[in-house]
Amino acid sequence: MGKEQCRQVEFEGALIEYRLIRKPVKNINLRIKQVQDVVVSANERVSAVRVDAFVLSKGPWILKILARLQCQPVLSPMPAKMTKDEKRACSQSFQAVLDRMIPHFEPFGVAMPALKIRCMKSRWGSCAYKQGAITLNSRLLQAPEACLEYVVAHELAHFIHPDHSSHFYSLLSHVMPDYKARKKLLESQGRML
Ligand SMILES: [Zn+2]
Repeated sequence: MGKEQCRQVEFEGALIEYRLIRKPVKNINLRIKQVQDVVVSANERVSAVRVDAFVLSKGPWILKILARLQCQPVLSPMPAKMTKDEKRACSQSFQAVLDRMIPHFEPFGVAMPALKIRCMKSRWGSCAYKQGAITLNSRLLQAPEACLEYVVAHELAHFIHPDHSSHFYSLLSHVMPDYKARKKLLESQGRML
């Protein structure tokens, strides 16, 4: 007879709740039926701690499925190493946004910077204004384009104001009047740790 237990694990700040059902199955099985219904079955000999660890190991996948079911895009943790194709896709789409945004900054004397792409944990982008380079987080590839544009504009604005002063923000709102909404969207969708 199946015993059922409600358990939860925390994955990168997100709580994953699941129903643990004891069944004479061989391995640990995980199914997602609908939003908030993650079902894991395991036999009696597998400890709950091991099942928790198993669910945690499936964290990126579970969050992706749940997000799809909720129609809410979530940035899943990306592997630090990208494949060649991912790298190419990243630099093409980031460069395209940069090409589109730079004309707004050229009147202020900003020249096209070198573009670097890295998978970063704690920031979306950075600007090395002395070196004439900006670095963008490869995880932005999964973000809405409006957010990517915002990060690019933010970093380009740092070539004029390398700080977060009121001058910086007034320039940013001049170039991108809806930057606050874009920033909010990015904050609501990006699970950055
Ligand atoms: Zn900044």
